[in-house]
Amino acid sequence: MDEEQGEAGDSSGGAEGTTSFSRRDALRIASALGLVSLGGGAAWALLEGELAHQPAVSWHKSVCRYCGTGCGVQVGIRDKQVVEVRGDEDAHNRGKLCIKGSLLPVLNTLPGRLTTPLIRKDGKLEPASWEEAMSLVASRFSAAIREDGPNAVAFYGSGQLYTEESYTANKLFKAGIGTNNVDGNPRLCMASAAVGYTRVFGKDEPPGAYEDIDHAKVFFLAGANPAECHQPLFERMLARRRADPEVRIVCVDPRRTMTAEYSDFHLAPRPGADLLLLWSMAKVMLDEGLFDDKFIAEHVAFRTNEGKAAGLEELAAFLEDFVPEDVEVQLGISSAQIREVAHLFAASDATMSLWTMGFNQRVDGVALNTTINALHLLSGQIGRPGATPMSLTGQANACGGVRDTGSLSHILPHGRMIAKAEDRAEMEKLWGVPEGRIQAQPGLHAVALFQAIEEGKVRCLLNMCTNPGQSLPNLARYRDAMDKVFLVVTDVFETASTELADVVLPSALWLEKEGVYGQSERRYQLLEKLLDAPGQARSDLEILVDLAARLGHEQLITAKTPSAVWDEYRLLSAHSKYDFSGMTRERLRAAHGLQWPCPSETHPGTVRRYIAGDPFVPKGQEVRFYGHPDGRAYVHLVPYEDRSDPVDADFPLVLTTGRIVEQWHTGTMTDRIPEIRQGTPRGHVEMHFADADVLGIRDGEQVRVQSRYGAIEGPVRVTRGPRPGTLFASFYDAKWLINQVVCDRVDPLSKQPDFKTTAVSVRSVSA
Ligand code: SF4
Repeated sequence: MDEEQGEAGDSSGGAEGTTSFSRRDALRIASALGLVSLGGGAAWALLEGELAHQPAVSWHKSVCRYCGTGCGVQVGIRDKQVVEVRGDEDAHNRGKLCIKGSLLPVLNTLPGRLTTPLIRKDGKLEPASWEEAMSLVASRFSAAIREDGPNAVAFYGSGQLYTEESYTANKLFKAGIGTNNVDGNPRLCMASAAVGYTRVFGKDEPPGAYEDIDHAKVFFLAGANPAECHQPLFERMLARRRADPEVRIVCVDPRRTMTAEYSDFHLAPRPGADLLLLWSMAKVMLDEGLFDDKFIAEHVAFRTNEGKAAGLEELAAFLEDFVPEDVEVQLGISSAQIREVAHLFAASDATMSLWTMGFNQRVDGVALNTTINALHLLSGQIGRPGATPMSLTGQANACGGVRDTGSLSHILPHGRMIAKAEDRAEMEKLWGVPEGRIQAQPGLHAVALFQAIEEGKVRCLLNMCTNPGQSLPNLARYRDAMDKVFLVVTDVFETASTELADVVLPSALWLEKEGVYGQSERRYQLLEKLLDAPGQARSDLEILVDLAARLGHEQLITAKTPSAVWDEYRLLSAHSKYDFSGMTRERLRAAHGLQWPCPSETHPGTVRRYIAGDPFVPKGQEVRFYGHPDGRAYVHLVPYEDRSDPVDADFPLVLTTGRIVEQWHTGTMTDRIPEIRQGTPRGHVEMHFADADVLGIRDGEQVRVQSRYGAIEGPVRVTRGPRPGTLFASFYDAKWLINQVVCDRVDPLSKQPDFKTTAVSVRSVSA
């Protein structure tokens, strides 16, 4: 299935010159099909899901299959088929869906579903029985573990697996097999946000909620393009501004995205330099008395970059390096704009920051995450309705399924860390495995995992519900590695990863299995099984339970159904500050999701954390950042250091990548939908007019984009979108693998790769 990479977009229709059928045409077709354009006269379409063919005979509450916005839907079923999907008026999206959600009715009947296991024989994937496929998988995994130890195998999962599936895989590999080689595509999308929250608040996941949108006076959107990637949320921001003309939207993005078009301010920093913006805003706040001194004194602590305790004096000295007039050239934003936006941010009644891949997929992703949280702490813009930092998530279940279950190589469930002996010991006890079963060293993060595969250190990889054969950076290198390992892929369609697999296992899709998604605001929502999976396809949970038994871990993996796994997992949460033990299956079935903490079956859930009303804030206290033992949130004084892929005479431009409104990540589902496929330009690169003039490149020409990692040829679209010196490309086109060009540098703390700042050269090859 699809994979996480980025948020970004194209602001002005199709890639004229690269296709005869523009994106606007697609949106017009959508309108002609009865999809309704909303958004206060916005030119872009925000669609209500009403692709009705035949009337439904029953309606069911569910959640959109795709992104971390987690839109609620009502699914109309007739004759065991989806005939209609509507945005749920009672869910947080208030009936709104983007074009992807609106076209959900066709998802389960798209041609090309994998319906039987496949085994590679003589270089070709051949149909096989489940017994044949699973016994081959088990024997190869057993042999690798027996001969080279547990770290010779690995699991690579997805923010699109259901929570019960990720939890079971994590438990099987870490507590059963005994390897921490459990990672997945969330490493590519939100690892920096998770590490950032943990460093600042002591616990992962946002303090605020979507409800804050209805109260904010200033929206600070940085490294995010919600007008394309989280449309119902952006529509909610526009509705907020329509209701209160004093509301302001600030967009920080090196591209003039669709979000920038609708914003009151667009700041376009030089790619890789935006930490300078955040700290120079802090400098303005300090100099102009915009810090909330009382809040800082009561609730904030400071740490130097070396981890030593510090105070306001150290902060003031640190900020001397960020005088707006001194950094404006390097940053690419005028000091006047920095000052104006710093004022807006700090002085408003309520400021809400929203960010995503532009801040996460960076070599300095953790620094950006800790610093944007710091701006809220320093100005006291936190803990009130509308005043909050809030990272947005790309995938439907990256938060609930992967971050919260601890399904990455360095973490354990509910915020526990592999590196902490007491956390390992607690999980070993809770899971009933011998002391020492969980290895003390973190396992391999995504990029390190594929490097270990390249070196032959990992011999077997179980890849579930994700498409690293298209989504990894430095892709040609890691595709070669995938070709060497014993690769097992579960998926619903053929992908750029199944073509490299030794065994392909057909899995159940949305509505064909039951499970829980947890989206960006700590909201868990249940998706019920409404359809039969086609052919022999099975849920990923069934596959994991089968594998566990074959590997001799039947005594450990005793919960075999989604509801049994959920009960085990939710009751475990009671031993943590995530506590959602009150979220019974029955409550989730009835509600449009619940937000944790939710420690009892009568608790209503928690909209805002760390303030009165949060069950972990002691009675009588207004604020307590209980994730740290001292009850404070930390401001980390992280200096600016440009570690991006270096721009030089050979590679003078910067390539940034991301998503577009119609396509979901690597396009394995959306690019099969005719209305989307015909309306989306094929893979291409966008370039600013000024660069095209200098290079003598014309709109629509074929160009070669070359980096230190690889090259690709394709059409160019000349626009005013990316700022001069910057290129943009999306990664959904399986026939145009742009990630071959993208660097695989990672953030030193989160190990998240940088998909946003690869140095490249471009030349015409049309002649
Ligand atoms: Fe689905 Fe995301 Fe679109 Fe909502 S915004 S309809 S969750 S793809």
